[in-house]
Amino acid sequence: MIRPAMTATQTTTAAVMHAAGAPLEVREITVEPPRRGEVLVRMAASGVCHSDLHTLDGIQPFPVPVILGHEGAGIVEAVGPEVSGLRAGDHVMLSWVPYCGGCRMCAQGRPNLCEELAWSDAGTMMDGSVRFHADGAPVHHYTTSSFSGLSVVPAQSCIPVADDLPLDELALMGCAVMTGFGAVLNTARVRPGERVAVIGCGGVGLNVIQAAVVAGATTIVAVDVSERALDLAVELGATATVRASGAEAEAAIRRHAGGAVDCAFEALGRRETIELALAVAGRGGQTVLIGMAAPGERASIDPLAITLEERVVRGSWYGSCRPIVDFPVLVDLYRAGRIRLGAMTEPIGLRDINRAFDLLRSGRAGRSVVVF
Ligand SMILES: [Zn+2]
Ligand SMILES: [Zn+2]
Repeated sequence: MIRPAMTATQTTTAAVMHAAGAPLEVREITVEPPRRGEVLVRMAASGVCHSDLHTLDGIQPFPVPVILGHEGAGIVEAVGPEVSGLRAGDHVMLSWVPYCGGCRMCAQGRPNLCEELAWSDAGTMMDGSVRFHADGAPVHHYTTSSFSGLSVVPAQSCIPVADDLPLDELALMGCAVMTGFGAVLNTARVRPGERVAVIGCGGVGLNVIQAAVVAGATTIVAVDVSERALDLAVELGATATVRASGAEAEAAIRRHAGGAVDCAFEALGRRETIELALAVAGRGGQTVLIGMAAPGERASIDPLAITLEERVVRGSWYGSCRPIVDFPVLVDLYRAGRIRLGAMTEPIGLRDINRAFDLLRSGRAGRSVVVF
């Protein structure tokens, strides 16, 4: 049998988004070989994340057609020119924020805020072109486009990992775990003994809870309206749960925490839960906004309390992630059993992807993971 050359265009199956609100089409596409600084990855698994849903539902506009998915892990199939440190057969986790390494933010050690990513926002690779086509027409990239059996990604998005670990669980490292752990360990720097509230216990919120345990928080109040999400929260280390919203939730958080909390994490991006997270953080406390609000959304603050009590409101984008520094730490914690992912994941096939989005819309707890 003659194997096709690595440099040839290949075909694969991918879930293609054609328009906001329309179901994804699972179909055959072609994938061009990787160019300079790029890597072709055979996807093993991809989580289905709220950010994908935001784009699919048109809340975050993005060029179409596009292959969504940004929480993947897989095996390097081929590397393009000028790629070092990676070769075919390497197992990799995929980070969805590429970075240039040379801008002001990168130079400050904040590559998650890289200023040179206009190409990524435009749905292309670094050189402004695309590697995906369907019936000869170009299809856009969505960071790592992990809803495709084969994807071309920037080399900086590939984090090599030992090949004895299960790729279907490692996929979650690329978004939910990095975002949640980074928010606690990098952005907020939670200290031992602190009291924490976690509002929204989806894939990210559950990882905020696991990270708060690692950081030594002694009170971890999980807030959600889903009973199953709260069951998972307790399994992963929450010390109390609140199944409520609004003023009722605020009173319950204070009751469980013995007052205001040191750090309130918001993982939904909704006005009322943002205002709840602002309300329950106390003197010298922090409110960390992780959830992505819709563009133009506004929430009200109490500026006098912020001044008098030196409260801090922070955004956390991709867990203030520095991929080279942070992913190996996550893998060590995972090996040590301090990051548990099995309980929160449900494997599905790529053809079930639209059902997975329906479940996400319904607020169902846990993470659907496409296994290729
Ligand atoms: Zn995500
Ligand atoms: Zn940069």
